[in-house]
Amino acid sequence: MAEIKTEEQAEKKSLNFIEQIVEKDLAEGKNGGRIQTRFPPEPNGYLHIGHAKAICMDFGIAAKYGGVCNLRFDDTNPTKEDMEYIDAIKEDIQWLGFQWANVYNASDYFQQLWDFAINLIKEGKAYIDEQTSEQIAQQKGTPTQPGTESPYRNRPVEESLELFQRMNTGEIPEGAMVLRAKIDMVSPNMHFRDPIIYRVVNHPHPHTGTKWKAYPMYDFAHGQSDYFEGVTHSLCTLEFVPHRPLYDLFVDWVKEGKDLDDNRPHQYEFNKLNLNYVLLSKRNLLILVKEGLVNGWDDPRMPTLCGFRRRGYSPESIRKFVDKIGYTTYDALNDFALLESAVREDLNDRATRVSAVLHPVKLVITNYPEGQVETMEAINNPEHPEEGTHQVEFTRELWIEQDDFMEDAPKKYFRMTPGQEVRLKNAYIVKCTGCKKDDQGNVTEVYAEYDPETRSGLPGANRKVKGTIHWVSTHDCLECEVRLYDRLWKEENPRDALEAIKEAKQCDSLTAMKEMINPDSLNVLQHCYVEKFTAGMKPLTYLQFQRIGYFNVDKDSTPEKMVFNRTVGLKDTWGKINK
Ligand code: ATP
Ligand code: MG
Repeated sequence: MAEIKTEEQAEKKSLNFIEQIVEKDLAEGKNGGRIQTRFPPEPNGYLHIGHAKAICMDFGIAAKYGGVCNLRFDDTNPTKEDMEYIDAIKEDIQWLGFQWANVYNASDYFQQLWDFAINLIKEGKAYIDEQTSEQIAQQKGTPTQPGTESPYRNRPVEESLELFQRMNTGEIPEGAMVLRAKIDMVSPNMHFRDPIIYRVVNHPHPHTGTKWKAYPMYDFAHGQSDYFEGVTHSLCTLEFVPHRPLYDLFVDWVKEGKDLDDNRPHQYEFNKLNLNYVLLSKRNLLILVKEGLVNGWDDPRMPTLCGFRRRGYSPESIRKFVDKIGYTTYDALNDFALLESAVREDLNDRATRVSAVLHPVKLVITNYPEGQVETMEAINNPEHPEEGTHQVEFTRELWIEQDDFMEDAPKKYFRMTPGQEVRLKNAYIVKCTGCKKDDQGNVTEVYAEYDPETRSGLPGANRKVKGTIHWVSTHDCLECEVRLYDRLWKEENPRDALEAIKEAKQCDSLTAMKEMINPDSLNVLQHCYVEKFTAGMKPLTYLQFQRIGYFNVDKDSTPEKMVFNRTVGLKDTWGKINK
């Protein structure tokens, strides 16, 4: 018995704080034992890795406790929203491995929200304010100074009702008036100081077209949408903590008289994902895309899910990373190296091993017969012997890495240097005999002699040599393009740096971004060579270029020319190179 208890305790301890809340609610029979969550993106851009953290939480909780998670587009801001984003968001959620039960939109509730707003006006809980947004802002006060009541605060209900109708006909210009909730202008919570709940936007909506001109604000739509849908646990990030009392108040108001049991949504907040050298937030990512600082939302340097996908990250690696960092109630800056180690670990299991030479120099095996071709077996993935082998051709002339030859090598250099033996992966042991150089002293060819007794699989292959290098046959390879990526920002905390530069220089985000961007974040190598085995491989194929790193087939590949993206190096060079 004692042992069982310990196990139970251990499991309790490993639950994150949201899971603990959910288990307590279930134990108390709240909401009739129902668990319902939602993932509520605003369709104003592509999802980024921060959203992955929210998605894993929202969908994960529902899956773990037999509940339902819906996808709800928070589409209350028609000027910034687009069908392109809606489709991309769905694709990225599914790619991550999650499936929503239903797709809803905040706009599905525009009528209900409108009716609710009318009721509030009738009950004296909302009024039309005709002041400018500057005047309203000025009257808000500060957390230590009370606000000032609007001169329109106590206007007759009929007047507000009539003006509210007119806000929705198109005759009221944007900004001329707003609907405000009448709460408390001296509340210590600034969100209670008569928040704006409706404004005029004269712009067609992707779903409702031109039907509405008056649109609910986020704070007025979100909690009520949760309530209309039957959400039980409304999970969001920490910046919404100060909004929670308003969320609760609106839910109290909308529930009034209808549903007296405890069936209502509760908001819980966890920390945002924040990664060093990475700038999240769609607003900023949109600037990068629009201004051409990157090549689109799926540029492999972007922290978007489609960017990570194109770079060669597997969905599993992102989920494992999110799991590792966990959920807390305080903000932190996570190390990008942790994400890289998660993807390395995952791709070690997943990636097919091939040989590629990124900075080639020719190696001639001078005692190997010209025209002779031998077929060697290359293991596809040593982690999974069942995946078998593929064949590579060995010939007299091979490509090797420039780095793998040194004329005057130091003692511990175990690769090609005159007089030294080295193993050619999956083939023979060769002894370097020298090299040829051009007028500038650049090595143009390396020479070696092979020992026919040392072919892989023969007893002679067991001879001890200290180094093994990879190669591709000059007759059995593809010339290809390889794109190497480095961090996009020079600053460790780009979010803070961006604000600091804007403040110091009184400049806009774009100007500040240009100052922070790493000019060497993309390095395109042409004239690389890769095994012919990769010809025609589909985009998103996971590969390991042996001894170099993990790579992925890019969508720009054509039958004539393959293009590869480096996902991540084999080892953590990140810190070393840049610190
Ligand atoms: P952004 O500032 O990037 O536009 P957002 O919060 O405005 O992000 P939404 O589409 O409104 O993005 O948010 C959808 C959900 O994703 C919200 O619940 C939000 O809290 C969550 N989310 C956004 N960014 C992060 C992040 N960095 N880490 C964890 N969750 C996040
Ligand atoms: Mg948002």
